[in-house]
Amino acid sequence: MRDRTNTTGRPINLTRRLFVRAATGAIAGVAAGDSLIHAAERLGNQRPAMGGRLLLKGGVVLTFDAAIGDFEKADVLIEGKKIVAVQPNISATATVIDASRMIVLPGFIDSHHHCYQGALRNIQTNGLLEDYSRDIVGEATPFYRPEDAYAGELISAVRALDAGITTLMDISQVSNSPEHSDACIKGLQDAGIRAVFAYARGFGPKAQYPRDIERLQKRYFSTADQLLTLAMGTQLTQEQWTVARKVGVRIFTHVVGRAACDTILKWSQAGLMRADNVYIHATSASAEFMRRTAETGGSVSIAAPIEMTMRHGMPPLQLALDNGIRPSLSSDVETTMAADMFTQMRTVFTLQRALVNERAIAGEKNLPAMLTAREVIGFATVEGAKCTGLDRKVGTLTPGKEADVVMLRTDLPNVLPFNNAYGAIVAHMDTSNVDTVLVAGKVMKRAGKLVGVDMKDIGELAERSRNYIVGKTGWPRSVLDTSRAGR
Ligand SMILES: [Zn+2]
Repeated sequence: MRDRTNTTGRPINLTRRLFVRAATGAIAGVAAGDSLIHAAERLGNQRPAMGGRLLLKGGVVLTFDAAIGDFEKADVLIEGKKIVAVQPNISATATVIDASRMIVLPGFIDSHHHCYQGALRNIQTNGLLEDYSRDIVGEATPFYRPEDAYAGELISAVRALDAGITTLMDISQVSNSPEHSDACIKGLQDAGIRAVFAYARGFGPKAQYPRDIERLQKRYFSTADQLLTLAMGTQLTQEQWTVARKVGVRIFTHVVGRAACDTILKWSQAGLMRADNVYIHATSASAEFMRRTAETGGSVSIAAPIEMTMRHGMPPLQLALDNGIRPSLSSDVETTMAADMFTQMRTVFTLQRALVNERAIAGEKNLPAMLTAREVIGFATVEGAKCTGLDRKVGTLTPGKEADVVMLRTDLPNVLPFNNAYGAIVAHMDTSNVDTVLVAGKVMKRAGKLVGVDMKDIGELAERSRNYIVGKTGWPRSVLDTSRAGR
């Protein structure tokens, strides 16, 4: 595993290798063992370096770029990090990936995910928001060590890539010390995903939120030409928004319930609602809040399955649409629900239609338009790019943008015979259809398998972390627990 060649026989990039070892060594030094480093090395070094040109040949291509349109059959040519052409019958000297039984589309974008909780998946599926606040935020998170934050980030980001998510906004509220924030960033870097790291609060005497953001910006985000972008996850305080604007980063704020929405609406009189604001949930928002959000260019991130099951309130999907806002979609917390965009898309598609259908059955006229499957895929791609401020880089298959691409198999039992691309994706597919995933032109998943990832090591890392955290909280441990909180 420490050979000087990787699976392609190419020399390992030693600079990268040493960097990974040094950085994760600092995290591992606190308590974790060697396999953490091994996992990171595999991630960092054993992906085939398919630089140069890649040609995705003969797929159904959904660009989500209105000027280019979608194709029944076309090719996508990638050079280095970037898409250089999307059209039928490209001939070029390139490594060819056969896309003839695939749908090729922009990588999915998850616009709000607390990645650090990856080791606590489905530990609280039956829980409500109040249970989550008490147990996960109040009880477990203060026990997190930097290596626990790292383990959660790594397994969440790897899972995202496996599911065709090429960008996620990570709002890990575990900045219990500067080392915790460093560990979160390292987890995202080692996974190789594109991410917005929204620096958010933490717990305990070593927490330095929000002032540590200036150090983070200098240390990790001095250039825009990288996969990670800095943002800030804030509470409902003007002071934190001021800090974010001082350093010039986007502001992601959880807004749950009418009172929270009304507070922000009041701030708009002082010009504080701006295009750099992302409102997460915005449940029970007033029409005026949505109107002001649209007028000021703000974004809304809807986590429909979580909002519905955890009592945040009804996802404000129709209200957003009625006011000209196209929302992005987000998975939020894996302690309660799956973090893949098929779950997200199917939920908002059926929810919006159910609500409109009820109004139709009740005899209401002049109903809002029913969402189409294509629109919902747009929420999970291009709208996610706008919400995360990355739409100039990704979100559509547009020549000049970076090649964040997912290829979905159409020759599997769940979609055969293949009749409609949009319908297949939203209504029938799941993560088993995710065949190939590219991030900035780099192959992260191929033929249904993550490239250079040893799930055994990463799984064990997450398991050790889970054992530590649950050992500290003293929660009962049984995979057959049926209690109300579900743990
Ligand atoms: Zn959240």
